[in-house]
Amino acid sequence: MYSSRRRFLSLGATLAGSFCLAEVALADTPQKLLETDPTAESLGYKDDGSKVDHAKFPKYAPPQACGNCALFQGKTGDASGPCPIYGGKIVQAKGWCNAYVKKG
Ligand code: SF4
Repeated sequence: MYSSRRRFLSLGATLAGSFCLAEVALADTPQKLLETDPTAESLGYKDDGSKVDHAKFPKYAPPQACGNCALFQGKTGDASGPCPIYGGKIVQAKGWCNAYVKKG
């Protein structure tokens, strides 16, 4: 009886620890920026810069893209990376928004 109770408590502690680790892992995983995010919509963000609404955002001109924006925090050549404008959410290197600043 004592042994099975101990095993039960041990199993419970292990499961609780696993859930905590999973929560920490999820919390630390940056989220992809959605085009429907209110800030993304207001700044005209698109995963594919060629789909930017040129009438609303005349500033856009190829080859402007997140991948060559000064704010892009991915490495050169990365397909995506965090952007501080959106709290570190992941933007696509081919993406674009109206906060674009040419990398110097
Ligand atoms: S600020 Fe730059 S890196 Fe961030 S979404 Fe806009 S264009 Fe992309």
